[in-house]
Amino acid sequence: MKKTLAIIGGGAVGLTSAIHAYNFSKGNINIIILEKMDRVGKKILATGNGRCNFTNIYATYENFYGEDKFFSKYFLEQFSVQDTIDFFYNLGVLHTVLENGKVYPYSEQASSILDALRNKIDNLNIPIKTEFDVKSINKKNDKFKIVSTKNETILANKIIFATGGMASQNLGSNGSGIKILKSLGHSCTKLTPALVQLKTPPEKVKSLKGIKITGNLKMYSNDTFLKEEYGEILFTDYGISGPPVFQLSTLFSRYKNLIAYIDFMPSFTEEEVFNILKDRKKLLNYTNMENYFNGLLNKRLGNIIAKSSGIEKLSFLVENLTDNILKNMANLIKNYKLEILDTNGFNNAQVTSGGIKTSEFNNKTLESKIIKGLYCAGEILDVVGDCGGFNLQWAWSSSYVATKCCVKSMI
Ligand SMILES: Cc1cc2nc3c(=O)[nH]c(=O)nc-3n(C[C@H](O)[C@H](O)[C@H](O)COP(=O)(O)OP(=O)(O)OC[C@H]3O[C@@H](n4cnc5c(N)ncnc54)[C@H](O)[C@@H]3O)c2cc1C
Repeated sequence: MKKTLAIIGGGAVGLTSAIHAYNFSKGNINIIILEKMDRVGKKILATGNGRCNFTNIYATYENFYGEDKFFSKYFLEQFSVQDTIDFFYNLGVLHTVLENGKVYPYSEQASSILDALRNKIDNLNIPIKTEFDVKSINKKNDKFKIVSTKNETILANKIIFATGGMASQNLGSNGSGIKILKSLGHSCTKLTPALVQLKTPPEKVKSLKGIKITGNLKMYSNDTFLKEEYGEILFTDYGISGPPVFQLSTLFSRYKNLIAYIDFMPSFTEEEVFNILKDRKKLLNYTNMENYFNGLLNKRLGNIIAKSSGIEKLSFLVENLTDNILKNMANLIKNYKLEILDTNGFNNAQVTSGGIKTSEFNNKTLESKIIKGLYCAGEILDVVGDCGGFNLQWAWSSSYVATKCCVKSMI
């Protein structure tokens, strides 16, 4: 009798795992995908703003974080970025490399990735059971009994457990898988939203709401410099958003007392900014602060810089600007300080920082050391990547290794 592999979670890991499992077993095992939502792969459709940034040509283990900083290395070597590109090419998806090494389907449609996976799964006749929300797993006599919230039961010899993390719960993963693994004896690191907007004191950003500024964002923990990112920063009524913010948001889970400094004029030194401001004092000595920043900074930002430098009224005459005020302004333009109070929560996050402890898994097979025959892959584990296609690469790489090792133990 053929053995059964149950894949729990029909996301990025689950769908690729089904295809790999068929290939490795040459069709000699039963495979079933169990998915709680009414459709598989909902999150894939939302990735990369609907374009699916499915890998990054610069991906290395250094783009990934977790208690074990090196954990992803072996898996990325076993199923590399090129393997990902080849895998999807073989499913009919040509790729294109856009800014910063980000790889997208040539069609620039996330649905291309999901459709390619679903079409192949259909072609291999692998059954998908949707609206099967796994609530518990019991192991007896080397067999797993998987029970849904509607009390339906599936028996399996082995499990690939790929229920994702806690981010964007409307797309499926809500942490129920983490609870199940904890009930079976696994432990979890601290879970924090990542690749997400950041909250700051509202009074420092509210009047800038809706403004997009291309600048440099530097992140500090107290006085220690951590990392910086250049790009478009968007102000909201609660804080900051945009690619540099998403990229640096993973720091929130790892460091205390985060402070962001925005450099609004990154192509100039502070001294150069001071000289520009001084020059403008001469050029614009016929007007007031209402017009002083015109042509240099966004008007609302200019007003904030003026106010923060001690100028209470915009009717203040440019000719009265002192060197001290100008120095203050140059400093604020180069180092606009924002304390980071929090992230904007799991529902707005792209990924989860933290997860089930990787030390509880074999670091070459991803089999649980606690529940033999159960393999984990993807976001549920304590591995989180930078923004830019890295998290999906982790999903593809870990799915490949877990499935290969799992299936080899079944045939
Ligand atoms: C808006 C958004 C944009 C993103 N953009 C990108 C991007 O461009 N590039 C990139 O690399 N990464 C991106 N990511 C992150 C990436 O999508 C995830 O890291 C990746 O999908 C994780 O794969 P996974 O299979 O581990 O989990 P998921 O893809 O989340 O899949 C888990 C599946 O398990 C199902 N499930 C959960 N619990 C149960 C249960 N109890 N029973 C049965 N089924 C269950 C869920 O419904 C879901 O279908 C983005 C994420 C979001 C939210």
